[in-house]
Amino acid sequence: MSTYTAPLRDIAFTLEHLVGLPELTTWETFAHADPDMLLGALDEAGRFVSEVVAPTNTVGDETGCRLNDDGTVTTPQGFKEAYSRFVESGWGTLPFPSAFGGQDLPWVVGIAVVELIKSANMAWSLCPMLTQSAIDALIHHGSPEQQATYLEKLVTGEWTGTMLLTESEAGSDVGALRAKAVPADDGSWRVTGSKTFITWGEHDVAENIIHLVLARTPGAPPGTRGISLFIVPKYLVKADGSLGERNDIKAVSLEHKIGIHASPTCVMSMGDQGEGAVGYLIGEEHRGMAYMFTMMNNARLAVGVEGLSISERAYQLALEYAQLRRQGRAIGAPKTESSLIIEHPDIRRMLMTMKATIEAMRGLLYLTAATIDRSRHHPDESERGRYAELLALLTPVAKAWSTDRGVEMTSLGIQIHGGMGYVEETGAAQHWRDSRIAPIYEGTNGIQAVDLVLRKLPLRGGELVRELLAEMGDLDADLEAAGDVFGPIRERLIEGRSALEGATEWMLASEDPNDALAGATPYLEMFGTVTGGWLLAKGALAARRLAEGKDDPFLQAKIATAHFYCTQLLPRATGLFPAITAGAGDLFEITPAFLGA
Ligand SMILES: Cc1cc2nc3c(=O)[nH]c(=O)nc-3n(C[C@H](O)[C@H](O)[C@H](O)COP(=O)(O)OP(=O)(O)OC[C@H]3O[C@@H](n4cnc5c(N)ncnc54)[C@H](O)[C@@H]3O)c2cc1C
Repeated sequence: MSTYTAPLRDIAFTLEHLVGLPELTTWETFAHADPDMLLGALDEAGRFVSEVVAPTNTVGDETGCRLNDDGTVTTPQGFKEAYSRFVESGWGTLPFPSAFGGQDLPWVVGIAVVELIKSANMAWSLCPMLTQSAIDALIHHGSPEQQATYLEKLVTGEWTGTMLLTESEAGSDVGALRAKAVPADDGSWRVTGSKTFITWGEHDVAENIIHLVLARTPGAPPGTRGISLFIVPKYLVKADGSLGERNDIKAVSLEHKIGIHASPTCVMSMGDQGEGAVGYLIGEEHRGMAYMFTMMNNARLAVGVEGLSISERAYQLALEYAQLRRQGRAIGAPKTESSLIIEHPDIRRMLMTMKATIEAMRGLLYLTAATIDRSRHHPDESERGRYAELLALLTPVAKAWSTDRGVEMTSLGIQIHGGMGYVEETGAAQHWRDSRIAPIYEGTNGIQAVDLVLRKLPLRGGELVRELLAEMGDLDADLEAAGDVFGPIRERLIEGRSALEGATEWMLASEDPNDALAGATPYLEMFGTVTGGWLLAKGALAARRLAEGKDDPFLQAKIATAHFYCTQLLPRATGLFPAITAGAGDLFEITPAFLGA
């Protein structure tokens, strides 16, 4: 049975020394929270998820969810209780405004809690995650009346939220969706249609579900320009806030999946019993896609965190196994006994790869979350605008880079276990199976790469990305001054950054969009890998300062980890340059008819 220990020291280090939490808490909005208090709260959250949520992970995977004849969904044993304790504890409320029952704390602290929850049980975590996205959409776009009706219960977690975009013919191409909404006499709408793959679309852990649904109104223009966003509650809410009639929206089947078995992935049907499910328009007609992006951006970051969380959990399991399993004799070990596998260089290589990549992911994801805080609360308005653009640039990288790494890291976790990783009883296989969805949902990683090269790089004529690259370059002088072990870190970072600069300029200058699209995924990988190296090097410099006069293995490990990453993993990014700049020629050289020949 796999246990989980929250990596609190590394989280605290990332918050304090990589992403500037102390600076955020000097702003008026967060004046009530000092870093020590926040780290203390994370300590508590770590204990909560280890003791209450993590024990539900294996049983959830083994039993999954069940759709009953009456349309209800039964979640695995322990899920309801863990959820009600989550609601009681208030862990979901941290980053939301106190006006709606939140705690006005930085988003980046909320993301640290999301990391902990997702490591404890990724399938379970999707319920609060989607609720948080729905809250964010309602805070930004809901009417005062809608906010008063739904927000407080969503913030506390008494009600949960969902996101209904996908239809069988409208996946990546959301603009192809066909669900319909027609106006009713009382100002509400009637929504009909079928949505597929809806996460936590039906369940038994909370009394109401607030579905946010994309649909077309009569006469709407085609594509994404004609989509509107509706609130469709499972139970209608009466004027006094109590629950009324059951709405005409229900789960008609559950998907059988590779992983996240305990997350009910539903086909949802609206309007089977009459004229349609009662819905309430959010904001203006035809602005649904723009509103949904508020949800999707935060959900993208949270899905990126899945790559980190599942890798951390897989790493802890693999590290434990590597210190128990004996096989072969390591070089120089006594002839009388076999060695622990952790003594073999190849196992060390895999463990170091996991450790370094996890820390790089944590840096990138937390930096993106802190950028949300800066874009919303920086005291200087023009800085808020600059950070909003930076957030737009970082989000696809944070999502796709981290989730691709998640699949790789959990696969390494299996490899460290050998055959015991391939059988289910160790739990290593579950992490890999669970990790596989994250590069697919919330916009596939291919779509994230398209977004990065076609929409984000050209922001401000390329000046935004150039500014970020220049900021990475600013570390160079400090690395040079640090000498010793920092020399190779600096050299590899210069190479990586220069490759990224070259690839970026190639992308910006590319005249045929097909050429840019052909290199988009390796470009995103290079972007994430180099950014990860920059953040680890920054952390290593901080560790060097903090370690002065101390013998602290944690801080020494920070320097060794950055050295390993920059000298052994980062050079792979440089090697992606030819694939990024090759253009689309080779990819289309062979016609579909001959791809199989
Ligand atoms: C477990 C699970 C949970 C989910 N939860 C939800 C949910 O809660 N709510 C919701 O609305 N949806 C949800 N989804 C749907 C999910 O977001 C979609 O599966 C995803 O967006 C991809 O759409 P698709 O499956 O139709 O794949 P397709 O769009 O058919 O894509 C197939 C392949 O083509 C590629 N592709 C497609 N278009 C392009 C393009 N323009 N350029 C380059 N490549 C392209 C994709 O990257 C992919 O590799 C969930 C899906 C799963 C499996």
